[in-house]
Amino acid sequence: MEVTFWGVRGSIPSPGPATVRYGGNTSCVAVRLGNGELVVLDCGTGARNLGLQLLSGPFGQGQGRATFLLSHAHWDHIQGFPFFGPFYVTGNSFVIHGGDRGSHLLETVLEGQMAAQYFPVQTIKNMGAQIEMRAVVPAEPFAVNGATVRAHANPHGPTHAFAYRIEDAGRVLAYASDAGYGQDGPSAGAIALCQGADLLIHDSTFTPEDRALRIARGLSSLEDAVECAVRAGVKRLALFHYDQDYSDHQVDQLVARGRRLLDDRGATGIEIVGAAEGLTLTL
Ligand SMILES: [Zn+2]
Repeated sequence: MEVTFWGVRGSIPSPGPATVRYGGNTSCVAVRLGNGELVVLDCGTGARNLGLQLLSGPFGQGQGRATFLLSHAHWDHIQGFPFFGPFYVTGNSFVIHGGDRGSHLLETVLEGQMAAQYFPVQTIKNMGAQIEMRAVVPAEPFAVNGATVRAHANPHGPTHAFAYRIEDAGRVLAYASDAGYGQDGPSAGAIALCQGADLLIHDSTFTPEDRALRIARGLSSLEDAVECAVRAGVKRLALFHYDQDYSDHQVDQLVARGRRLLDDRGATGIEIVGAAEGLTLTL
């Protein structure tokens, strides 16, 4: 598997001189499976640049296909949807997994942001490509382009967000964005989803101090990410979904602090990286 980050920011895009190294686009991660098939995790504003790159290949000729796995439908996970160029090329086909109360609800949410008040295209049906919505049922594994995917619903403020586990050709990727764990930290289900992953991409929105001031946001601290990585025994941890107000320098500090936390817990073997736009990790 090859994992490329196209957007690593939480809540709202944060372009500007203070965020050029890690990037200001919101959540979007492209996963190239061993057989070459494409899976995309979340559709924040990072999806726009991913789409531009894909248009130079089969997606530009209407011969592309890909699967999206949406954690939930907050803006920073769907705002790239109307700006993903391959959706506008007839012949391309996509399956979008998300929601928890039926594909109809998922379609309604995505259609909602296409309405004329928000966007000139007005409906997904004007986009050109074939787009199918499928509802995720937690704990029921499903096949995606040759890989096996499992979902687990983590608490996320007043709602929840799906974490995903992708198993492909003997490798495991776990993606847990927007995880607002309770006082006891990651639940047994959250840990099980990430168990033994070659790479865990985990919500690390805040420092522990900032999270304590913003509990209602339903997001993780760096400490939560480290806790999940250690208990699940992952090989590599990628910090992700940084607060929109954190500068590159603050994210550097977050990564360095994560290294110290892992070492303090004796988890010296777990590698830690700060996800950044354009970074590719091979599993
Ligand atoms: Zn988010």
